[in-house]
Amino acid sequence: MIEVYKFGGASLKDAEGIKNISSIIALNPHKQLLIVLSAMGRTTDSLEMLAKAYFTGAADVQQIFIRIKDYHEKVAEALFEDTGHPVFDDIANTFVEIDWIIEEEPYDNYDYIYDQIVSIGELVSSKIVSHYLNHQGILNQWVDARNYIQTDNTHREGRVDWNKTTYLTETLLQPILQKQIAVTQGFIGSTSENFTTTLGREGSDYTAAIFASCLKAAAVTIWKDVPGVLNADPKWFDYTELIPQLSYYDAIELAYYGATVIHPKTIKPLQNNGIPLHVRSFLDLEAPGTLIGNTDKPLEVPSFIFKVDQVLISIYPKDFSFIIEENLSQIFDILHQHRIKVNTMLNTALSFSISIDNDDAKIMKLIETLSATYRVKYNKGLELVTIRYYNQQTIERVTVSKKVLLEVKSRHTCQMVMRDMN
Ligand code: ASP
Ligand code: MG
Repeated sequence: MIEVYKFGGASLKDAEGIKNISSIIALNPHKQLLIVLSAMGRTTDSLEMLAKAYFTGAADVQQIFIRIKDYHEKVAEALFEDTGHPVFDDIANTFVEIDWIIEEEPYDNYDYIYDQIVSIGELVSSKIVSHYLNHQGILNQWVDARNYIQTDNTHREGRVDWNKTTYLTETLLQPILQKQIAVTQGFIGSTSENFTTTLGREGSDYTAAIFASCLKAAAVTIWKDVPGVLNADPKWFDYTELIPQLSYYDAIELAYYGATVIHPKTIKPLQNNGIPLHVRSFLDLEAPGTLIGNTDKPLEVPSFIFKVDQVLISIYPKDFSFIIEENLSQIFDILHQHRIKVNTMLNTALSFSISIDNDDAKIMKLIETLSATYRVKYNKGLELVTIRYYNQQTIERVTVSKKVLLEVKSRHTCQMVMRDMN
């Protein structure tokens, strides 16, 4: 049976990381394994900067690009003693695609350009890792995810065409995996006209789940720099606990509200096919990690998801009429057009409030559109905490020196938008 391993940017940020990946794979040499890789370290952020610099005609385009290339070459030099190894040509040939783009004036739309440039991160990282594994005697084939993952042409947020993707994966990738390990890219796909798309930031987990579901894989393992799924992010909370087992249901709830450990779209394809998801630490191979799967066991500990830099937007009809279904559907249409993800919402007779991640450009455009019909107020610099399996004590714990502006509770989930009064 096929298994899928996904390694994120943090696990392959340097030569040591790539060696560690190789030793993890060497522990399971007999398996039919598909390895899905992110871009190295913070490469996606750097490529985003590059795409923006190119698009806006900034002066430092070449400098940014050179830094990205140098970083990859240094890592490859640390992995391959022989400077004549084909990996070096492969890296150069992959980056050349960016040269071709940036030597011309940007006349395409930004989202399209973004995908053509930013996708290179995964293409290069996967080439380096594939060569290195072969070099270590772990024979594998590099495969281009774009040959299988087919999307529509929503650039930066490609929507998967499941029929085509399943067909291509079954007929073209499965036979390769029956013979050997394959190494591929997370995050990227292709339109029917063969243009590269990306699946949204942090989308590599989703790629692993797409492949696993098309291949009817036995399991997916996401290797991370944390011991598994924790009940809170150690960045914000002093005391955290590992959750050894998690239902698909709770995993989706946690990921949806912003637990960064797995991409929210990852769970559905796995749940639909009953494929277990292991979240394990690439730093501690003995640690059991978290198993996400079919269990009815609700979470035993409350989980906390904390998001900063929230904007609370309140929308009021100008003529004092009620907020009714008609307004709501219009408001949601507008949110959808502006590609806004609502983190929490509440409506009263005369107002509708939402909390969303701050993104100045997006928010200004949204407010402009809404203001044509509604009176709009907004508050920036807020925090959003979501508590799954809350009780009074946990609410008190997170609201110390906070002013709560909005509170929404369901049976298991409590969300509060707050201002820090310190
Ligand atoms: N490299 C992409 C990103 O950083 C995709 C991923 O890592 O999941 O967003
Ligand atoms: Mg990542």
